[in-house]
Parts: sequence; structure tokens; C-alpha cells
Amino acid sequence: MKVPFLDLNAPYKELKQELDSAYQRVMESGWFIMGAEVESFEHEFAAYCGVKHCIGLGNGLEALHLILRAYGIGAGDEVIVPANTYIATWLAVSYSGAVPIPVEPDPRTYNLNPSLVEAAITPKTKAIMPVHLYGQPADMDPILQIAEKYNLKVIEDAAQAHGSLYKGRLSGSLGHSASFSFYPGKNLGALGDAGAIVTNDDELAENVRMLRNYGSKVKYFHDVKGFNSRLDEMQAAFLRAKLPHLDEWNERRKRIAAYYLDHLADLPGLTLPYAPAEITPVWHIFVVQTPHRDALQQFLKSKGVGTLIHYPVPPHLSKAYAELGFPKGAFPITETIASSALSLPMGPHLSIEEAEYVGNMIREYFSQV
Ligand SMILES: *Cc1c(COP(=O)(O)O)cnc(C)c1O
Repeated sequence: MKVPFLDLNAPYKELKQELDSAYQRVMESGWFIMGAEVESFEHEFAAYCGVKHCIGLGNGLEALHLILRAYGIGAGDEVIVPANTYIATWLAVSYSGAVPIPVEPDPRTYNLNPSLVEAAITPKTKAIMPVHLYGQPADMDPILQIAEKYNLKVIEDAAQAHGSLYKGRLSGSLGHSASFSFYPGKNLGALGDAGAIVTNDDELAENVRMLRNYGSKVKYFHDVKGFNSRLDEMQAAFLRAKLPHLDEWNERRKRIAAYYLDHLADLPGLTLPYAPAEITPVWHIFVVQTPHRDALQQFLKSKGVGTLIHYPVPPHLSKAYAELGFPKGAFPITETIASSALSLPMGPHLSIEEAEYVGNMIREYFSQV
């Protein structure tokens, strides 16, 4: 059996009719930037998240960046970010001109550890940017309490967490604002690059709308030096076709996760993901940890099972952030995750039979070590 890490063609097979008609609608409209599809998607996704505003943007990195810009965060400021995240979270802070200040994760949930946040706050701190990593919301209540005490903005990086719940509240509605990515492999994925921000803050929404479109509210009148980061009509139409299926597709991910959690529970040397009871993850990625990570990955590959590593080099040890001068060992929990984490096949189009095969191959590997 061959089990790819993720089958990006399967969504089209399932939704061919909806996606083809979305394509046709846009082609026949002859309107490709900032039109009816974007506007409708913004209403539909805001309603899905239970917030007032959604603003469609070019991608998830731009979404984070424009939120920071719209708050006026920039040179001389600091933003607290997870040490353990995809580098985009840090890059958005750097683009704004502010400095990312990393904080270690809780080793069980992989997400920002709220009890370490306060020690990282300085007079320059303007915001905390928790990431709902691997599809699991960060522990938001203590983060929001600290933010209130120090008058900081809380910006959720919800790029991996569409539809996930924290104490019954949806990701995207937990902080002052949130950014989403619709990169094709995300839980809600476009057929190209796309992103959005969501918020209840009217002023922030207005500023981001202006910044995404050359700093202009009225065509050819420019109030600020803006950017070009617009969600296009075609991607918005595809996202509208897929949004009604998001919850069902997340349910399928949960069934695969439940299968893995059940069938791999008793393997010594294999650490499974942990979700606190008040959290409903949407399993963007299913990460296991083992000191034999590289050997296990090779073994699975030889058995036709595709896996990935999220992420092999943490941002603080990336060449891109050499300027910050963090030595190896600066963030040991993050570094351990980077050297022992392996992401198993996961997605709404993975069958239980395929998950069973993956599970059996992992058991076979551990029976020999
Ligand atoms: C994917 C991702 C982003 C960036 O989204 P793009 O659409 O690829 O720009 C940001 N943060 C996290 C945690 C992500 O996984």
C-alpha cells in the first residue's frame, strides 16, 4: 500500500462540480480582483468564525503582517511569539520592523506556555502572537489575562486551526484579531495562495482594508503607504465552495486522529499528541515524537508511507535569524521537538484503512527496536 502524506488532488475529486462551477462563475463575470466573490466569502467566513469582520488577503503571512501594521506596531517594538512555530509568525513581526521575542512551548501541547510569557514582557512589548499549532488552540485565557494587565494586543496565528475550539469558542474569535492562511494544504485551502484576517475591531478592520489595497479607500486617493495583498475572485470563489465542507472534513480528521491515538497508545518510545479536555483540535497535522525519528521516517518511507517534519529547524536557529544571536540550546524544548517530531499522514481524504496501514507499520517498526 502507498499512503501519501497528503493527497491534494482528492478535494477536487470530491467537490469537482462545486469547484468547476465556481471557476465558471468567475470566468463568466470577467471580474478578477475585489468583487462579489471576495465580498461574499468575507461575510461567510466572518459568520463561520462568529466575528464581525473578515478581510481577504494575499496569504497568511501578509495577514499577520498587515494586522501588526494596522495596530501601528513597528520599529522599536517587541512582539512575543512562540519559539516553536512555523517561521512565518516571526517573519511577519520582522516585516513590521518590530523584533520577535520567542517563548518556549508547553512540552505536552507544543503551544506557547502562558506561564513563561510574563517574564518576556518589557516596556517595548506591544503584542502577543500565540499560534494554534498543528490545529490545536493555544491556552488563550491566561494569555488574554496577561495581555489585559500589560495593555497588549493578542493576535492569533490561526493558520493551522480553522474550526478548532477553545472552551467552546472558535479559533479566530479568541483574541483581539486573528490571521488565517488558505494555503492549499491547510484545513480550509484555496487552489493557490490566499489568507484573511478576522476581528471584531472596526478600526483595525478599516485599516487592514486600506493597507491591503495600496493604502487607498477611494480609488487613486492614497491615505497611507499601503501594500498589494488582495484575495482574488477566483480563490474566493473556490474557498466559498469549500467552506460548507470544512466542519465535515475536520470531523474526518478527528476520526483519523482518534484511530491513531487509540492504536498507538501503548508503544513505549512513542509520544502521542495531547489535547487538554477543554480543547477541540482540528488536527491540521498529527505529530508524534520519538528519539528514533529519522530511522522511523526511513522505515515508513520504505513501506510506502509519506511523512514530514514540522519543523526541522526552529526559527531561532535558522540562518535567517542569525542576527538575533541565539545559540544552540537557547530554547531546549523547541529544539527537542525539532529533533524528534514526525508528522503522520493526516487529512480529510485519508481512509481508516490507510491509517490502519500506517499504524501497523509503526507497530512493526517498534517491534524491532
Ligand atoms: C501556513 C502558516 C502561515 C503562513 O501562511 P501562508 O499563507 O503560507 O503565508 C503562518 N503561520 C503558520 C503557523 C502557518 O502554518
